[in-house]
Amino acid sequence: MISSIIFIITLGIAGFFIRKRVIRIQKNIQLGKVDRLDGPNNERWKNMLLVAFGQKKMFKRLTPAFFHFLIYAGFLIINLEVLEFVIDGIAGTHRIFAPFLGGFYNVLMNFFEFLAVAVLVSCIVFLVRRNVLKIDRFQSAEMTRWPRLDANLILTIEIILMMAILTMNASDQLLQTRDSHYVATGPLFFSGFLTSTLQSLNTSTLVFVERFCWWFHIVGILAFTVYITYSKHLHIFFAFINTYRAKLEPKGHINNMPVVTKEVKTMLGLPVEANTTTGEPGRFGAKDINDLTQTQLMAAYSCTECGRCTSECPANQTGKKLSPRKIMMDVRDRMEDVGNSLEKGGPGLSDGKFLLGDYITKEEINACTSCNACVEACPVLINPLEIILELRRYQAMEESSSPQQWNSMFQNIETSFAPWKFPASDRFNWAKMNS
Ligand code: SF4
Ligand code: SF4
Repeated sequence: MISSIIFIITLGIAGFFIRKRVIRIQKNIQLGKVDRLDGPNNERWKNMLLVAFGQKKMFKRLTPAFFHFLIYAGFLIINLEVLEFVIDGIAGTHRIFAPFLGGFYNVLMNFFEFLAVAVLVSCIVFLVRRNVLKIDRFQSAEMTRWPRLDANLILTIEIILMMAILTMNASDQLLQTRDSHYVATGPLFFSGFLTSTLQSLNTSTLVFVERFCWWFHIVGILAFTVYITYSKHLHIFFAFINTYRAKLEPKGHINNMPVVTKEVKTMLGLPVEANTTTGEPGRFGAKDINDLTQTQLMAAYSCTECGRCTSECPANQTGKKLSPRKIMMDVRDRMEDVGNSLEKGGPGLSDGKFLLGDYITKEEINACTSCNACVEACPVLINPLEIILELRRYQAMEESSSPQQWNSMFQNIETSFAPWKFPASDRFNWAKMNS
């Protein structure tokens, strides 16, 4: 009875913190502009099923894809066991599903244990890749301090949680032979290897070990869930929404600004669609997060910090300061800073800082070649290029502070409809000269 009350209180506390954080993240995302989803819904569901659920893009790099898939499958499936933990915790029962499922319970438990071992091994492999083999994409400047600690913490916590479940099962198996309270589960292959280590313990110590691991595992999972909401691990939820909301147009497509399009069409004497907006355009491009769309802000919470985008970025490869991963991390940091400020009654967006300038420098955005390699590489369909282009749009259209060479090119396009400084009528002279 007492343990049920403690368990329910623990659940309530975890639920409180998770809800609080979810509301905060929602408010942070709502700082962005509302955007409309165009295109067929079935394409969007397909993207979500193939890319988020099916991990399709992960498999471009087989080794990490294989181990990531094991962790992902473990996460999805082992959580079914958590359902039994929760019911047992509330009702004060022990392995409540065992009598109902009979022999199938043993099959399930063995499968869960297989996944637990697979997750454990995969996490060790990832820790080694990050900290011993020092894979390049995890060593960039933006991957120091919190991002590095965050990734290592997640992997370490998962290893400890899996160890707890195996130790709990091993002590439970021994207790089944000593106390009728413990429901027979049948032999468990992986935790069976640990029983010889625990065999010498007396019954009361074994009960303590079993209960400790049970509480440790479930409280650990609840605490981990709260932690996830502060971590890059949030991608386990947002990857699904992000792949659904991802752009459906071909990669080279750049969003037009309706007001500017209308002005240009009018200037060129082209027909203008009747429903084209005529209101105030607001700010051209983006200076801060409130100039970006809610989908773009949400994408920042979906970023796994895997660095695949940065490792494919030609600007980054040639030593420029640009890292598309950092762009996404900066957007998220800015959202968090503004959200924290607002929660404390502070100035929020009016804190005198801006995404462009205080978080992302002009040197970074000007290094982008708009090649789309980062967009192609992202396993969860994030588009850092769209954000870079919005920031550059602000720089060009509001501040006229693009690099000098670009300004000349813009002027030529405006006057000659070509990047070069000669009239449009002379554009085919080269062909005449060579004929
Ligand atoms: S689009 Fe820009 S940021 Fe993305 S890979 Fe190309 S150069 Fe890098
Ligand atoms: S934007 Fe995509 S590819 Fe880049 S770090 Fe984030 S999840 Fe990885």
